[in-house]
Amino acid sequence: MTFVVAIDGPAGSGKGTLAIGISKKFNFSYFDTGSLYRGLALQALDVHGENFTKNDVITLARNFSINSIDQESLRSSKIGKYSSIIASIPEVRSILIKIQRGFKEENLYQKGIVVDGRDIGTVIFPNANIKFFVSASIEERAKRRLIDFSERNEIISYNEVIKQLQKRDQRDKERSVAPLVAAEDAHLVDTTCINKEEALKIVSSLIIVELDDYMKINK
Ligand code: C5P
Repeated sequence: MTFVVAIDGPAGSGKGTLAIGISKKFNFSYFDTGSLYRGLALQALDVHGENFTKNDVITLARNFSINSIDQESLRSSKIGKYSSIIASIPEVRSILIKIQRGFKEENLYQKGIVVDGRDIGTVIFPNANIKFFVSASIEERAKRRLIDFSERNEIISYNEVIKQLQKRDQRDKERSVAPLVAAEDAHLVDTTCINKEEALKIVSSLIIVELDDYMKINK
């Protein structure tokens, strides 16, 4: 049995940083599921250019392996945009579900896993041991994204980042399959006015309680 931490939230909310913090603190394996959608978008662009069709992406998804993707090239704003476009294709989601659920099977004998994305608590692991939905104001999220981009030498304006985030949020929230929404039983964490250490402290105290109960039951 593996303890499952599910973390969802929009781009720039701090969910990835939080997930990495949890994985280090609790020695859990980490899976950034956004990298699947980003990796597939990168492949679609490489193979077909910007005019790829739905069927092009479905075919690529069937043969997709994240291991063949250079992680560094995934973080650009262009890949962010196209990843959310391909993420709205239901057939793509159902293919990628298997990879995501497979991560738990691969880690069955580990202490726990922490998985972040948009639909982890609602679709991928609805029975996760603990769920978090992380949010922050759009202005704060844009500031964080701007820092990420400038560290990667991508030149982009604050207003452009705001526009891109708004479009991506809208696409992620309005798609017909697995839209971005907090699971009913998720703990809501707003990181607008707290730093990453404070956010990690808050979620860790909740995980410790849940993990304690879990260990007693599964002794
Ligand atoms: O988390 P990240 O920004 O890397 O995700 C990129 C895109 O992949 C998101 O905007 C979303 O459209 C899609 N995604 C998704 N479901 C997930 C993870 C990511 O739809 N579980």
